[in-house]
Parts: sequence; structure tokens; C-alpha cells
Amino acid sequence: MPWVNQEMCNGCGACVDECPVGAITLNEMDKAEIAEESCIRCAKCHKVCPEEAVRHDSEQIPEHVEKNLEKTRRLLEYYDTSAEQQAFMERMIRYFSKERKVIELTIEKLKVLRDGMAGSAAS
Ligand code: SF4
Ligand code: SF4
Repeated sequence: MPWVNQEMCNGCGACVDECPVGAITLNEMDKAEIAEESCIRCAKCHKVCPEEAVRHDSEQIPEHVEKNLEKTRRLLEYYDTSAEQQAFMERMIRYFSKERKVIELTIEKLKVLRDGMAGSAAS
């Protein structure tokens, strides 16, 4: 999912014009914003931006990790005893392990799908 670095955006609107599904708008500060639910991940906004302000998802990994940690710390406050807190932490680790498994299996299946498409395109 692309995202816009607001400090780099000059508000030119090129990405707004280029987006095939109208997923990008300029906010009140004249900075581009992408509506995640509308984006079809075509990458056209990356290519057209003169400031390289449209950034790749991978750059947000540290932020996503911090959000997960924040959520865990917030929920941890509901538990009083050390035993309860330990049990909660175990559940969170199991939860994120499950999430990792879901992602790994999804990637495996996407690769099979992609390879199948390449095979049918060649034939
Ligand atoms: S990746 Fe494509 S669909 Fe998504 S915001 Fe950029 S131009 Fe629009
Ligand atoms: S093309 Fe780049 S600089 Fe122009 S509005 Fe979009 S994100 Fe901002």
C-alpha cells in the first residue's frame, strides 16, 4: 500500500490526476492523501510523483511494529498480577505468531498463483 510523505509532497496534484480509481485527494494543507480502501496498487502514483513523496509500504515496518507494541502495552494495563500479565503476553505472542503464519501461507499461495499465470501467459 503506497503512502504519501507529507513533508515531501509539494501539492502538485499529478498523482491525483494519474490515479485510475480516484483514491488520492489533496487535503486542506494541499498534501496528497491515499484512501487505502480504494487503492488497487497499480503504482502509477509512485511513477508520476516529481518529489518521490509517494513511498513504499516497507518503509513503514518500524511504525507498524511500534503500533503492535503500543497495543500490547495498552491491553497489558488491564491485568494486575504478574501471572495474569505473563499469561496475557503468551496470548499476544500466540496471536502474532498466528498472524505471521497467515501471511506466510498467503505469500506461498500468491507465488503459486503468479507462477500459474506466467505459465498460462507463455502457452
Ligand atoms: S497505487 Fe494506483 S490506485 Fe493506488 S493510490 Fe496510487 S495510483 Fe491510485
Ligand atoms: S505527485 Fe507527489 S508531490 Fe504531487 S501531489 Fe502527488 S504526492 Fe504530492
